This record gives sequence, structure tokens and C-alpha cells, in this order.
Amino acid sequence: MTSDVLVGADGAWSRIRPLLSDATPTYTGTTFVETYLYDVDRRHPATAEAVGEGAMYALTPGKGIVAHREAGDIIHTYVELNRSAEWAGAIDFGDADAARARVAAEFEGWAPHLTALITDGETAPVARMIHTLPDGHRWERVPGVTLLGDAAHLMRPSGDGANLAMFDGSELAGAIADRPGDIEAAFTAYEEALLARTEPFYAEARELLDLCLGDRAPYSFTDFFSGAAEQG
Ligand SMILES: Cc1cc2nc3c(=O)[nH]c(=O)nc-3n(C[C@H](O)[C@H](O)[C@H](O)COP(=O)(O)OP(=O)(O)OC[C@H]3O[C@@H](n4cnc5c(N)ncnc54)[C@H](O)[C@@H]3O)c2cc1C
Repeated sequence: MTSDVLVGADGAWSRIRPLLSDATPTYTGTTFVETYLYDVDRRHPATAEAVGEGAMYALTPGKGIVAHREAGDIIHTYVELNRSAEWAGAIDFGDADAARARVAAEFEGWAPHLTALITDGETAPVARMIHTLPDGHRWERVPGVTLLGDAAHLMRPSGDGANLAMFDGSELAGAIADRPGDIEAAFTAYEEALLARTEPFYAEARELLDLCLGDRAPYSFTDFFSGAAEQG
């Protein structure tokens, strides 16, 4: 198939990115294991109370359990672990019970209503090995091709990625609409703004994960929210 205009909006493992850039995602050393509990107020009251109406962060250096409530009495959890790719690769996530037991073993001695977020998980746990592109990933213009979202700027999760991707889409649409018949001018203007806009988010994403799992966790995290880090 051939095309005059190609926008790579195909995520972390973009098939379009190699047309523009040699960069490939690298593993950050952190894996999130995703679990869900359902009907939590009735079936998991102690855990539901611990998570509350919003989000709960139980953090220590190198590992933590981060859970938030979603509509419909659902708790969605990321079990966050600084572990090697080999550690994650050695777990058979196709065997949900064995995977739950292996991940829960990392939290031996933790309160049962917290480890229940792992052991009572009602969907098969899913490993999300966190990958990133190099900080400030850039490329030279290639006629007819551009990127948006994770294809352009995959980084550690910090609550921004989906928002950045949607913003990119709207900015790209605006750039094209503003330059009828001149897609190259549109892509050039879009990319200049995109690359400048996105660059600072890599450091912010790294810092946020370090606040959660770094050597000073959980105090680094509470300081951040209380503003103590800025004052100090
Ligand atoms: C654990 C975790 C937690 C996160 N939490 C948040 C958060 O709370 N808030 C936030 O804003 N962001 C969060 N993010 C980041 C967010 O998920 C991504 O930044 C966002 O999904 C990127 O959107 P995208 O459209 O660029 O890519 P994607 O969402 O990956 O979408 C790409 C799409 O392209 C499709 N595709 C891929 N290859 C092809 C192909 N060859 N042909 C056709 N289609 C293809 C895929 O199927 C997919 O539908 C999180 C990420 C992770 C890993």
C-alpha cells in the first residue's frame, strides 16, 4: 500500500517510527502489574475502605501498591516494582494463580487488605513492563510522515501520556486545517511545536516515578503533595 501522507499514531511499538527515527524503546527497570477487584464495597470491604473514594498509594523504596477506584465499584491496581526484565520474564503470566502468588510474595508481611489487591484479583494479572524512548526524542523531517502520542514520545507513566496524545491529535488537525494544500508546512509547524512541548515531560515522568519508588519513598511522595520539597 502507498500513501502520500502517513501519521504514525500506533503507540509504543510504532511501525511508522522507524521511517523517521532509529530510536527504540528501552526497558526502564520498572514493571507495573495490573489487577482489578469488582463489587468492592460488598465483596472486599476492608480493601475498599483502604482505597477510599479516590486513590491509594502504599509505597516503599523499589516497590509499591497503587490503587484507585473506578466507576461501578471497581478498584484498579498497579503493583509497581523495580525489577529486572529477567525477573518479569521469569513469571508465567499465562498462569494467573501462579503469577498472583509470585507477585504477592514480593509483599510478604504487608497488610492482608493491601495484598488482597493482588491475591484476590479477579482478572488475570497483566505485566506492563515500562519502556521509554530517549529523553526529548526528536527526528528530522521526512516528507509526508509524522508521529503523535506514544509513537512520538513514549515515556514513563505520569498521568500525562493519553492527554498528550489527544492534544497532539488536535494540534495536528489544527495545523493541517490552517494550511490548506500544504501538508509539509503543516507537518513542519506541528513537529516544531510538538518536540518543544513534549521534551520537559520526560524529566517530569522520571521524577514522578522516583517520588513513588525511589530511596526516600514514601516521604518523597508525601513531601511532593504537601509542598515540603519546594519549601525545603
Ligand atoms: C501502566 C500505565 C499506566 C498509564 N496511566 C496513564 C494515566 O493515568 N493517564 C495518562 O494520560 N496516560 C497513562 N498512561 C500512558 C497512556 O496509556 C499512553 O500514553 C497513551 O495510551 C498513548 O496513546 P496513543 O494513542 O499514542 O497510543 P496507544 O494508546 O498505544 O494506541 C495506539 C493504537 O494503535 C494501534 N496499533 C498499533 N500498531 C498498529 C498497526 N500496525 N496497525 C494498526 N493499528 C495499530 C494499537 O492497537 C492501539 O490501539 C499509562 C501507561 C501505562 C503503561
